[in-house]
Amino acid sequence: MRLTFLGTGAGEGYPGRWCDCHHCRYARQHGGKNIRMNSCAMIDDDLLLDLNGECFATAAWKSIDLLQARYLLVTHAHEDHFVPQHLIWRRMPEGADRLTPDAMRPIAAPRFTPLPHLTVIGNHYVEAALRARIPADQEADGYAMSFQTAQAGVPLEYPGLRIMPVQSRHGSSDDFALNYIIERGGKTILYALDTGGYTDAMIDILRRFRYDLIVMEGTRGDVDADPGGHMNMKKNLAMAKFFRSEHLLVPGGRFILSHLSPHWTPPHDKYEPMMREHQIDVAYDGLQITVN
Ligand SMILES: [Zn+2]
Ligand SMILES: [Zn+2]
Repeated sequence: MRLTFLGTGAGEGYPGRWCDCHHCRYARQHGGKNIRMNSCAMIDDDLLLDLNGECFATAAWKSIDLLQARYLLVTHAHEDHFVPQHLIWRRMPEGADRLTPDAMRPIAAPRFTPLPHLTVIGNHYVEAALRARIPADQEADGYAMSFQTAQAGVPLEYPGLRIMPVQSRHGSSDDFALNYIIERGGKTILYALDTGGYTDAMIDILRRFRYDLIVMEGTRGDVDADPGGHMNMKKNLAMAKFFRSEHLLVPGGRFILSHLSPHWTPPHDKYEPMMREHQIDVAYDGLQITVN
């Protein structure tokens, strides 16, 4: 499997939208890996992890093709992770993919090319957010899309792909967000954002797998107090220790942070060497990791 980071920032982005604090200013001045869009990732060419307002722009700038997506795993319905409006742009009137460029011109459609069918996977909050924009009875109307409800602890099986949803601690209710364990080609990736931790029942599920790659949120970096539904450095270190001490991370497997906020995590230039001392990597937008 190959995982591509399309965004590695938290909700406010990095630099923060309206902020000019020392971290935000550093990011603006130095650019490069210090700039982070809202978090989103893609596995191989066909599996998207979240869909926010920024991932299409990042993909275009970095020449990454999102059009072959067949699966969209949505972690939760916060808008830095899921913007259903972007699925509206999939609609194609019948036959529009067979029109000549001249015949296309008078037709008001957002899409003129065939796409593979997209299975959108998420919990009932994600479903409600999606249905507020695309009602179920309109889904067949050229969206090439369907919704599959995900439940923590209930695996989903597709050809050559197995997905285990895990309840995370994040958001306004106990069941608000899911993390995903993705198995393909004999390799396993855990995509763990957003989360502030797991219940014992979920830890038992996490223990059933051996991971080639763990991507975990690190929103609140060097803040000391427990940030509840997010991770700080202390909790990241404890999680990395848990996975390593129980041999759940395969030898050579990487533990890598994403979903980083400018108001608690230093800019990439500074945070990356800090975390390297703990054998933890820090992701950046455009980073690709191949596990094989
Ligand atoms: Zn988030
Ligand atoms: Zn969130």
